[in-house]
Amino acid sequence: MERHSRIYVAGHRGLVGSAIVRALEKEGYHNLVLRSRKELDLRDSRQVDHFFLDQEIDYVFLAAAKVGGIAANNDQPADFIRDNLLIQTNIIDAAYRARVEKLLFLGSTCIYPKLAPQPLKEEYLLTGALEPTNAPYAVAKIAGITMCQSYNRQYGTKYISVMPTNIYGPNDNFDLYSSHVLPALLRKFHEAKEQGSPFVEVWGTGNPRREFLHADDLADACLFLMRHYEGDEIVNIGVGEDIAIKDLALLIRKVTGYEGEIRFNDAVPDGTPRKLVDVTKLTGLGWRAGIGLEDGLRQVYADFKQTFTVKN
Ligand code: GDP
Repeated sequence: MERHSRIYVAGHRGLVGSAIVRALEKEGYHNLVLRSRKELDLRDSRQVDHFFLDQEIDYVFLAAAKVGGIAANNDQPADFIRDNLLIQTNIIDAAYRARVEKLLFLGSTCIYPKLAPQPLKEEYLLTGALEPTNAPYAVAKIAGITMCQSYNRQYGTKYISVMPTNIYGPNDNFDLYSSHVLPALLRKFHEAKEQGSPFVEVWGTGNPRREFLHADDLADACLFLMRHYEGDEIVNIGVGEDIAIKDLALLIRKVTGYEGEIRFNDAVPDGTPRKLVDVTKLTGLGWRAGIGLEDGLRQVYADFKQTFTVKN
């Protein structure tokens, strides 16, 4: 990737895409091509074809996707499989025909089999049944990975796929219905402090363990892999360490400066006991996460306080 390469970041307003844009800009890549949803509907193949033929793109970061937590996945399974299949198929195919130099496709560690051993290794993909609640999303993402591999084999493209663990950062989804635990707790503790509430409710027992990677670290890893990795095999991106939800809640209480009580509501299911990826491959290639969880939380909380407004 040269500083003047034309780089398209699909999904540049999202948590991951916006972090990739920040990382590219910071490193002096100045020829970025960005289109909002209004300007370019990625579900429409004619618009996508036209865009690629017109724009002479060299590199693509495919971070556009329909994403959401368990409730959203459960309520809109058709939208999840359709939108993701359309977006990725249109881009992967148009990029090939427009002779794009290289493309990075973002998978997710939640598409590994439900009962795969932990920590999750890359070779566990497609070795067992999926978690039913997000199967439509997972099947679409797995199709995207297989499509990248197939285009490489048949057409000689350079498409790579990565598997990020749980990501947090600025521009996250702070909606209490559809968000993941980290942004949900940041908001809950913040609002409890503002409103002087005596306690914050944390779902489940607090025992499940999760791994959290800052979006800026993920973006850094994506740039690293775009520059240094070529291969059909997927690559996990994570920190290689996890934390109990209980300890995450304590850390967020500290970061937000809330002094009330934490109450665990064990009527809410815990979900998977543990989610951790094996990052041996990535560290072997020479990359490691650099942002500690407490520092990352402080940064996201500062950003949240400045930018967050409740949308009615
Ligand atoms: P998961 O990683 O796919 O299970 O998704 P989540 O990030 O939504 O949940 C992770 C864990 O955090 C689960 O055990 C939840 O029950 C727990 N949790 C605790 N409090 C909250 C909350 O306020 N919101 C969410 N989304 N999860 C919470």
